[in-house]
Amino acid sequence: MIWPVPYDTKSQSFGENPTKYLPASHWIIRQFGNYQPDGHTGMDFAVKAGTPFRACADGTVIHVGWYPGTYADNDMWIAPGFAGFCYVVDHPWGRSIYGHGLDGGSKVRVGDQVKEGQVLGLTGNTGGTGDHLHFEILLNGWVVNSQFYGRVNPEAVISTLAPAGEVITYTPDEQFFIDLSISLP
Ligand SMILES: [Zn+2]
Repeated sequence: MIWPVPYDTKSQSFGENPTKYLPASHWIIRQFGNYQPDGHTGMDFAVKAGTPFRACADGTVIHVGWYPGTYADNDMWIAPGFAGFCYVVDHPWGRSIYGHGLDGGSKVRVGDQVKEGQVLGLTGNTGGTGDHLHFEILLNGWVVNSQFYGRVNPEAVISTLAPAGEVITYTPDEQFFIDLSISLP
């Protein structure tokens, strides 16, 4: 598994919630679902709109674009207004979700088989608050009606799965990614 954009651009971690005790009108991090007050259901990467982002692992694209209806109309509880122009990739181990993409910036279609590292689209700020990519992970067997709506911390999953001590050398062009694990079950 690789991060969809360079890992050192992280701007908000899983579970963070600096606005937890503020009135709803002051919430600044509500992206997917009404997850307050538990905390942030994914990781944010601060990148300028228009930055290519990539699939974290091999999989099948099952959603591209805005969600219709309400969060209850999809089995992952992705809230249409907050998710913006978003992407969902189905993997043998679960699903990865990429939010706030540039509307119309897609490089893939529903049904496409994508490889780890393949560009899915361009980042944006749709549905969000400023330019960033919001990245979520759902593992098989997720229970949406739970804390964080079944999401798990991508950092925890990746560190758990990462081969101990493995170091991968990239060409300069490939340093866009930081590969922390290539051994997903
Ligand atoms: Zn986020």
